[in-house]
Amino acid sequence: MPGQWHTLTGGEVARLLAVDPAQGLGEKEAEARYREVGPNDLPRQQGVPLWQMFFHQFRDFMVLVLLAATAISGLLGEYADAVTILLIVVLNAALGVLQEYRAEKSLAALQKLTAPEARVLRGGMEKKILAARLVPGDIVLLEAGDRVPADLRLLQAAQLEVEESILSGESMPVRKDPAVAGSGAGEHRNMAFMGTMVTRGRGRGVVVATGLATAMGQIARLLAGTQQESTPLQRRLAQLGGYLVAFCLLICAAVVVLGVYRGAPLYNMFLAGVSLAVAAIPEGLPAIVTVVLAVGVQRMARRQAIVRRLPAVETLGCATVICADKTGTITQNKMQVRQVVTAGGTRAEITGQGYEPRGRVKLLQGREGRDWQLLMQAAAICNNALLKKGGLSIGGFFRSRAAGMADGWQVQGDPTEGALLVMAARCGYWREKLLQPEDVLAELPFESERKRMTVLVREKTGPVAYTKGAPDVLLELCTQVCRGEQIVPLTDEIRKEIIQQHSEMAAAALRVLAFAWRPLPSGEGEYSPDTVEREMVFLGLAGMYDPPRPQVSGAVALCRRAGIKTVMITGDHSLTAQAVAQEIGLLGRGDQILTGQELDRLSDQELSARADKVSLYARVSPQHKLRIVRALQENGHVVAMTGDGVNDAPAVKKADIGIAMGQSGTDVTREAAGMVLADDDFSTIVAAVEEGRGIYDNIRKFIRYLLSCNVGEVLVMFVAVLAGLPLPLLPMQILWMNLVTDGLPAMALGMDPYDRDIMYRPPRRPRESIFAGGLGWRILGSGMLIAAGTLLIFVLAWYQTHQLDLARTMAFNTLVFFQLFYVFSCRSEHHSIWEVGLTSNPYLLLAVGVSTALQLLVNYVPLLQRLFHVVPLPAAQWGLILLVTALSLLLGTVYKMLQKRLREKIMYLRV
Ligand code: ATP
Repeated sequence: MPGQWHTLTGGEVARLLAVDPAQGLGEKEAEARYREVGPNDLPRQQGVPLWQMFFHQFRDFMVLVLLAATAISGLLGEYADAVTILLIVVLNAALGVLQEYRAEKSLAALQKLTAPEARVLRGGMEKKILAARLVPGDIVLLEAGDRVPADLRLLQAAQLEVEESILSGESMPVRKDPAVAGSGAGEHRNMAFMGTMVTRGRGRGVVVATGLATAMGQIARLLAGTQQESTPLQRRLAQLGGYLVAFCLLICAAVVVLGVYRGAPLYNMFLAGVSLAVAAIPEGLPAIVTVVLAVGVQRMARRQAIVRRLPAVETLGCATVICADKTGTITQNKMQVRQVVTAGGTRAEITGQGYEPRGRVKLLQGREGRDWQLLMQAAAICNNALLKKGGLSIGGFFRSRAAGMADGWQVQGDPTEGALLVMAARCGYWREKLLQPEDVLAELPFESERKRMTVLVREKTGPVAYTKGAPDVLLELCTQVCRGEQIVPLTDEIRKEIIQQHSEMAAAALRVLAFAWRPLPSGEGEYSPDTVEREMVFLGLAGMYDPPRPQVSGAVALCRRAGIKTVMITGDHSLTAQAVAQEIGLLGRGDQILTGQELDRLSDQELSARADKVSLYARVSPQHKLRIVRALQENGHVVAMTGDGVNDAPAVKKADIGIAMGQSGTDVTREAAGMVLADDDFSTIVAAVEEGRGIYDNIRKFIRYLLSCNVGEVLVMFVAVLAGLPLPLLPMQILWMNLVTDGLPAMALGMDPYDRDIMYRPPRRPRESIFAGGLGWRILGSGMLIAAGTLLIFVLAWYQTHQLDLARTMAFNTLVFFQLFYVFSCRSEHHSIWEVGLTSNPYLLLAVGVSTALQLLVNYVPLLQRLFHVVPLPAAQWGLILLVTALSLLLGTVYKMLQKRLREKIMYLRV
């Protein structure tokens, strides 16, 4: 009965789909249904097949020129040339396919990593599964920030609002209500549709349609997945490529015209011109950049940083500020309540192992009066977490009874609430014993902006509200206070006392939550925050410890050395945040703290003026994050910003590098982010920055290599023609080294291990040229050295033997071996090969080995000798070639050693 689900009640839908809403489907049943209906996804774009990839290579302008040259050689009867060029073109295309295939594979792997997930109830247990595995009948749990994973008939909802613009074009969220009868205007209020976004509240629904059967599937619009944008560097390189082509064509034309003018045959000069153009233009460059980026992305994924947008990789290397959430990113989000202080002055210390509900409760002061009892009830009842072991569970409104768990106690849901549930259990208060699920009347869910949450329950005396939240916020809602057995007005004096207690706990790095309670007049109509959360009775405080993640201190110190500022942003109280910041060494001299309230009073300009000095923002709401990003960007910073909640998305989107949480984050933020942290850990961001820097470094390495080689080749030909010498290299030889022997080492350079000092340098400026830091000069210098060496050998051999083929063979080999030695010099801009370690990049050794073997084949296989016009060289000649070419590496090493000495001297003088 597709399309009619909304006309039935939730119970009828569940019956029709043969599912118990409290248990969900069993795994076996779900598997059977999956086999029947197939995966819950919409058709995606298919990958390009290999043969198409191969033919795509022939769209390249240079390849087309080469093919034209093949045709011309063939027509003129130069069959050997034609076949050789064709062979080289095909080999080059195969290399191109290899590179593209690798890139595509890594991007596909990436898409898998960022595949959407859904929270379901299976066999009575709450589980996270791939959204694609959902089947009709599955019970799905929704909360703010989730993308609805299939079409659902809602069964329960608390303040649930869903934004359906993707389906209806209407951007105002729709309030959902499972009880609405489904006809007319309200017909969609009891449904949630695939692809729409939960903006508020929580709910639960039964899957009625998956995949193409959903409303979304019928419109067949694709959901946003991993995007394959080009990075700024790729765009700049494409531009550079354009200029280079124009420039090279000019030089080549000059060579051809000069050659013909000097009397060389037109056909020879034409081929020389074409091959020179091919030599000069680094056509492999964009492909290798893509491969390096893709390989880097895989490397980052292994370090738990999943890149959703390729440009993020590049921007990461430029990051100057990392803004990170405290809870869960800097801390472990494994909370333990350590202290309880009731409004009546009862004070207790709570200890215990993990989530084990039996712990030690040591009363330090006072006794367990009514304030204690109400506080514990509030902690257990105003709670959506689930504490479970084996078949036993106690849990909140939307959670189910867990069954069949392995040993050990576990908490499911929000860790703050988990800690409170454990605390209450340790003190003997179990939710299941306090009330039945049907006694829950409503929930006013927690939101970061509200900083509180309320659950309304029916008790013998009538409806009662239990609230928990930030102490400062709750104090504002209370007019009375429970002291021992009595309820008295909340005077300023008592308020001060409570604030003092709170400050003491916060200064010990404890995250403090307050509790309040209020009996409600019955029949108050619809429960809303305004009617319920007022005139409450304050009950007391609980302080929990959330230890910092072990690697965070090291990562913060590393950032400081790398010229990156770390900023902690938290909704928590400033004293708690400050204590944590001190624990991880985040606050340096002169670093300031700003609270959300103070921030509200600053104009955008004032905030910008202060932003550089602030290292800690406390008691902020997600909206403040956007202002913080803007202020920092205004000051020229490249900002990385983390986010998890639904309202963090705008700030995450605005940041230069938006970072979402893989474990605790919401779908909305994940989709807005450029990168997702699989482990939610701050130190992973720092690792990703390191990778980002390394990847850029490696791109510079092979750009240096490829361009130096190209400059060398062009200069050899150009100078020879200018000097009236015969051409030192034949067109086939130029093509061969350019398209075959260069490519592999360049690719291997892209996988080079990063320099050790990569995090000891300041961040790169985002608009910095790829040739910055003297790279352009180095390329020219090395190119000239290569050309000079090659010409020297050529001229020597030519004057000594007057055998042109021999001289050319020597020039050809000299150039190739120059390049194969030089590639080792390109591994670091500052460190000599000995410091880098000769064997630390096995790919490079392999690539150089293969290129050497190919070059030897050309030298010694008779057929290839004929095609490439080479003659076998005697050992003495080889010796000379190796001596001269090894010089490039030697000179590079000496240069770097001198440079290092000089740097050390300057440092010494400065000190
Ligand atoms: P961070 O911003 O570093 O993640 P946070 O968890 O403290 O830290 P929010 O989630 O915005 O930030 O919470 C803000 C405040 O709301 C908390 O400091 C706490 O006082 C209160 N709070 C957090 N979780 C709950 C909850 N489940 N129920 C009621 N109040 C909560």
